[in-house]
Amino acid sequence: MGLMDGKVALIFGVANKNSIAWGITRRLHEEGATIGLSYAGEIMEKRVFPLAQEINCDFVEPCDVTSDEQLDALFAKAKERFGKIDTLVHCVAFANREDLGGRFVDISREGFKMALDISAYSLVAMAKRAAPLMTDGGSIMSLTYYAAEKVMPKYHVMAVAKAALETITRYLANDLGPQGIRVNAISAGPIKTLAAAGVPGFRLMLKYSEKAAPLRRLVSQEEVGDTALYLASNLSRSVTGEVIHVDAGFNILGLTATEDELGGLVE
Ligand code: NAD
Repeated sequence: MGLMDGKVALIFGVANKNSIAWGITRRLHEEGATIGLSYAGEIMEKRVFPLAQEINCDFVEPCDVTSDEQLDALFAKAKERFGKIDTLVHCVAFANREDLGGRFVDISREGFKMALDISAYSLVAMAKRAAPLMTDGGSIMSLTYYAAEKVMPKYHVMAVAKAALETITRYLANDLGPQGIRVNAISAGPIKTLAAAGVPGFRLMLKYSEKAAPLRRLVSQEEVGDTALYLASNLSRSVTGEVIHVDAGFNILGLTATEDELGGLVE
């Protein structure tokens, strides 16, 4: 008996085997979920199809989340194939490289609109289409980062997008709760992925988080997958509107310098 037996999960954002969405997919699949995957475009197709085969998933559909038409088509296909869905996983983000790094004040209007559209509004657009298919109630989740709460170097426009995503989580939770649909977000610590490679100074963030986090280690896609399983399953049936940190405790820190680094400052 798996925690996801009889449940259908539609997952956006698998780009390759390092994707957080893939860690989540594997975990939900292991617990018996029927999986539908959606990916961004032709370049991703080559990587995503072989992964889908590994879990015998034959619902693998392209969808650019900036297109209402493509979203309509994707959810129509999901309805036709599965009849209903129980879990929606949003692991999608994008920003122009020039709007990450540099000075925050230099973010362009176009770059701001695009990052917010792809990385935050898309959750609203997906939830609107998923809700009518969640006939037995459901669980919607997305991936966020601590830069939404506190200033992190160079994260800039994506920090604003994540702040929007977290607020959207609460408003959707309130809107869809009466239908038995729960909406939560996972705030993951830094993990080496394609999207993360676009953040300037990411390697330093990895090293620093590993050194400073209370658990003194990084987190993995599989560990995020475990929390996603909790959120997708009945175990979290009374949990909605939450942002759950899976970051080895990094978010509880005030002064984040390590003892070694502080040593030189104190007489
Ligand atoms: P990833 O590159 O594997 O995933 C990002 C996905 O977004 C890709 O599959 C990409 O194709 C998709 N995407 C981008 N533009 C799209 C569009 N217009 N339409 C459809 N899909 C589009 O990287 P990841 O790190 O696994 O990212 C997944 C989520 O996790 C993102 O929301 C990211 O911000 C978040 N996150 C990542 C980290 C980290 O350190 N890697 C930490 C916290 C949160």
